[in-house]
Amino acid sequence: MIFNIISIFPEMFDSILHYGVLGRAFTNDICSLNFNNPRDFVSDSYKRIDDKPFGGGPGMVMKIAPLEDAIKMALQQQQTLDVKKNIRIYMSPQGKPCNQALVSELLQYDGIIFVCGRYEGIDERCIERNIDLEISIGDFVVSGGELPAMMLIDALMRHIPGVLHDKDSAQADSFVSGLLDHPHYTIPREYDGMNVPEVLLSGNHEQIKLWRLQMSLWHTYKKRPDLLQSKQLTKIESGLLQDAIKRFE
Ligand code: SAM
Repeated sequence: MIFNIISIFPEMFDSILHYGVLGRAFTNDICSLNFNNPRDFVSDSYKRIDDKPFGGGPGMVMKIAPLEDAIKMALQQQQTLDVKKNIRIYMSPQGKPCNQALVSELLQYDGIIFVCGRYEGIDERCIERNIDLEISIGDFVVSGGELPAMMLIDALMRHIPGVLHDKDSAQADSFVSGLLDHPHYTIPREYDGMNVPEVLLSGNHEQIKLWRLQMSLWHTYKKRPDLLQSKQLTKIESGLLQDAIKRFE
């Protein structure tokens, strides 16, 4: 997947470019990150990309022209890189709330352009004319679109073949099947009087699978009951959940 980032702070992306599984995926060219800085598209010597809002009020607004030029450049680059299907996303607290289903939908694109706002945000006309989708990472406001874009890139890349060491790992994560993940344990078997559940040491893979499914159901019921409302449980799943409620509640 090819990402283009429209941002005045491209250096912030160093934290995903050079570390962990994402860093490795960029080094191995499984994905690429390109930057289009709106400041490069202004000619005045102050490189001003923002100005005061019409109508008054606090803060500054990012101007349309440098943003639009940066987006055009990003589109051209993606075309040159043979991107077949792309989307222009503005990271915004007013956008569609992000969840795993939206992440899965976005995996159909091989090119994504992220516009990262700053200050009070970007000129509304830029959104009207250049943005396909606004996405929010939650009902709270952060200072810029860079961290939200990085979060979304990370969530997307986990599902791109070759990014994770174990290809099944992302499939077992919370939300993918509509449930939360089961609990995990590692050495030591006993720590300060706390033991690893016996079944995980049994070597019985069928029993382990059932236990994990039951724990996923139980944790979802306890921590995120809202998720169960939109999930059709199978007979086996319902039975496992009822059994867990009887035993643990
Ligand atoms: N005045 C704007 C509002 O209240 O809708 C908030 C502007 S915010 C300080 C600056 C930038 O941060 C936004 O343009 C957007 O790109 C980004 N941003 C802030 N909160 C976000 C969120 N919850 N999700 C995605 N992006 C966000």
